[in-house]
Amino acid sequence: MLKRELNFQGTSPLLYLIATPIGNLEEFSPRALHVLREMDYVACEDTRNSGLLLKRFSLDLPLISCHEHNEEKASERILSLLSEGKKVAYMSDAGYPIISDPGQRLARRVIEAGYKVSVVNGPNAGLCALVGSGIPSEHFYFYGFLDSKPSSRRKQLESLKDFHDTIIFYESPHRIHDTLIDMASILGKDRRASLSRELTKTHEEYIRATLEELSQLEEETLIGEMVLVVEGAKKGINETTDEEIVNYLKETLGTMKSKEAIKEVAQRYHLPKNRVYDLYLKNFK
Ligand code: SAM
Repeated sequence: MLKRELNFQGTSPLLYLIATPIGNLEEFSPRALHVLREMDYVACEDTRNSGLLLKRFSLDLPLISCHEHNEEKASERILSLLSEGKKVAYMSDAGYPIISDPGQRLARRVIEAGYKVSVVNGPNAGLCALVGSGIPSEHFYFYGFLDSKPSSRRKQLESLKDFHDTIIFYESPHRIHDTLIDMASILGKDRRASLSRELTKTHEEYIRATLEELSQLEEETLIGEMVLVVEGAKKGINETTDEEIVNYLKETLGTMKSKEAIKEVAQRYHLPKNRVYDLYLKNFK
C-alpha cells in the first residue's frame, strides 16, 4: 500500500528547500523568512554567504555546511536531526537549491528515508531570463551549464542542434564568448537568442539578437552572471503542427496586423504563406 501523508499534517519529518534571491534581496519572500524563523537549523551550500544573507534579515540560526563535496556526509547529519524532531531547511547561494546547485542528494536521501520535502518558492535565473527573452516559451528545455571543456561543449551542442524547443543555458562570463562562437557555428548563426546579465540587479541587461550578432559582442562587455536563452531549431514544413501555427498566430496577432502576422509566422516556421493564411481564416475570421 502506497504511504501518503499531507506535507503539513501528520508526523513524518519534513525538510524545507528554500529559494533565495538571485541578486535583489527584496525578492526573498515573506514566506521564506517566516519559515526560516521557525527553523532549528539551516543547512546551506556556503555558510558564509547564507550567514550574511540571514543576518541582513536579522536571523541568527545555527548553520550546517552542505555542499557538492560533503553532501553525503552532511545529509547523514541532517537526517539524524530530522529524526530527532528538529526543524531543518536547506538553501543554496542563489535561486532554487538543486537547480545547477547542490541539494539533490540531500533531497533524495530525505525522500528515501520516508520523510517529506516542501519547497518555498522564489527567484530562478533561468525562468526569469526566459520570461524576459521574447523567445517562444510554450515548450522549453532547461540545459543549465554546458561542459567547460571546449570539445565536450561542442559535442553537447551538436546533440542539441535539431532540438525544436527553446533552450536555457547558464554560462560563466569567462566562457560566454567562446560558447557563443560555438553556438553560432553549430546551432546556426541566424538563431534568435537572448543573453541576460545581472538579472534583478542594478546593471540588469537583456541583449536580444541572433547568435552571430551575440558572438560578435566585445568580450569585455559580457560581465556578471548570465543566462542564454536560445530559440529551438526551425521545423521543416511537415513537422510543424496546425496547433503550433495557430498558437503563434494568436501571439503575433496581438502585436501586429493580420498581413504582417501571417508573414512573420510563415517566415518563422519556413512555411508557404497560403498554409498560414488558411489557418488564419479558419481560426480568426
Ligand atoms: N540555483 C540557481 C537558480 O535557481 O537559478 C542557479 C545557480 S547556478 C550555480 C549560477 C548560475 O545561474 C550563474 O552562473 C548564471 O548563469 C545564473 N544566474 C544566477 N544569478 C543570476 C543573475 N542574477 N543574472 C543572470 N544569471 C544568473
